[in-house]
Amino acid sequence: MKILDHLINGAATAGLSDRTGPVFNPATGDQIAQVRLASAADVDAAVAAAKAALPEWSAMPPLRRARIMFRFNELIHAHTDELAAMITEEHGKTIEDAKGDILRGREVVEFACGIPHLMRGEFTEDVGTGVDAFSIRQHVGVCAGITPFNFPAMIPLWMFPLSIACGNTFILKPSERDPSCPYRLVELAHEAGVPEGVVNMVNGDKQAVDALLTHANIDAVSFVGSTPVASYIYATAAEHGKRVQALGGAKNHMVVMPDADIEQASDALIGAGYGSAGQRCMAVSVAVAVGDEAADALVGSLIPKIQELKIGPGNADDIEMGPVVTKQAQERILNLIGQGVEEGATLAVDGRGLQLQGYENGYFMGGTLFDHVTEDMSVYKEEIFGPVLSVVRAKDYESALDMVNRNEYGNGTAIFTKDGDAARDFTERAQIGMVGVNVPISVPVAYHSFGGWKRSLFGDTHMHGMEGVRFYTRLKAVTSRWPKSGVREGHSLTMPTMQ
Ligand code: NAD
Repeated sequence: MKILDHLINGAATAGLSDRTGPVFNPATGDQIAQVRLASAADVDAAVAAAKAALPEWSAMPPLRRARIMFRFNELIHAHTDELAAMITEEHGKTIEDAKGDILRGREVVEFACGIPHLMRGEFTEDVGTGVDAFSIRQHVGVCAGITPFNFPAMIPLWMFPLSIACGNTFILKPSERDPSCPYRLVELAHEAGVPEGVVNMVNGDKQAVDALLTHANIDAVSFVGSTPVASYIYATAAEHGKRVQALGGAKNHMVVMPDADIEQASDALIGAGYGSAGQRCMAVSVAVAVGDEAADALVGSLIPKIQELKIGPGNADDIEMGPVVTKQAQERILNLIGQGVEEGATLAVDGRGLQLQGYENGYFMGGTLFDHVTEDMSVYKEEIFGPVLSVVRAKDYESALDMVNRNEYGNGTAIFTKDGDAARDFTERAQIGMVGVNVPISVPVAYHSFGGWKRSLFGDTHMHGMEGVRFYTRLKAVTSRWPKSGVREGHSLTMPTMQ
């Protein structure tokens, strides 16, 4: 069976630990590989490589680092089909969706190509007589990135390209569910000219993560994953003196106003609720219909579209939705659907019990729709992370907005309406990090920043865009003066005021 190694100091390595974990093909249920699970000693080796590579890499002019990023972007582009096949095999999403995962990641590499401009400082001449001031952005040091299973290309690419473009060195610890695509990306970075030791990858689980969070030579940690783990990462890494950004889970609501075009809204909900089998942190899992008339029309429009979803292995033609990632995920989602029924929600479409000929052991599920969901139900409270959409009925706009704002998560939300006033009010008052107006999945482009509020993000800094540059750099302010030699002003004990 294939064994997936670590990549440290530019070379594949088995490392020192003899622990491994299984990697499955979710469409067939077959185990397709064993992934190595790093020990603290393996993490040590990766950190030592990153630390050794730091002085030379950080001293390289940003323009030369940018040229490597340009080549890296071209290589990812050239290998899109190969990378997409890896994603589909281990994650289960469709090939087209996997290509979207890669392209959204590449956009951050394209953004990182602008690093000479992005790291440019500010200069003020004559802040006092003959005194100039400037501020510059410098690299932070050795950075670590810990990523989830659901975007094996995009989320690693949110992190390491921008981090190294800023002059840092990096250790990536991707999800142990689908590590092949991130590994190939790190190989391509080397092919593009990234020197040995600048980007390293360790495979692993909690043991590897804990070793990174507590390591004395790691300066900053980026994390994306579920909320309980994000909160643990933030607290542990911060306690060990690191800069941290930890993005967590979500429960994204889409408010459908009575004046909305119901067909447009329901098409948007099909993509946002069932794309990638609902395993996106920006998936819409709650539709808040304002008024019973809009709710009835919405549910009536959704039902046939959900029943007609083309479900199958992600590498087959014309498939819209693949399986969920693991057997455990499938069982958890099935349990939550059962709880929804027990707690009194109306099961408008039941996605349980789907069997696909030839794929009986795959982790497939049909799309599920609940109506008349209320805030006290498990299907509302839990992040299901599967193809399950809940419709909640709100009596008016204010109670819909209150519901969005009461929710513990604050990743994304959307409003569908033709009313500019309502849309403007919503964008202003929603306590949520990313808001869409007639856009269901408002994932910001690379030159804006991605991040939620409340329990969807621990830390202050969002991913990529200028927030990403700020996270991966430290600001230094310099005040400088070149007095004419021989001119003396005498000493002064008062606070310098530059007058
Ligand atoms: P996860 O939290 O289980 O795992 C994420 C990473 O943390 C993995 O690399 C994993 O190995 C590691 N990990 C898991 N348990 C750990 C522990 N106890 N201690 C230390 N490390 C641990 O998440 P997942 O199932 O891979 O991904 C799905 C979750 O990620 C969902 O909750 C989703 O909303 C969230 N997510 C959030 C965003 C965002 O931008 N906010 C984006 C994508 C996914």
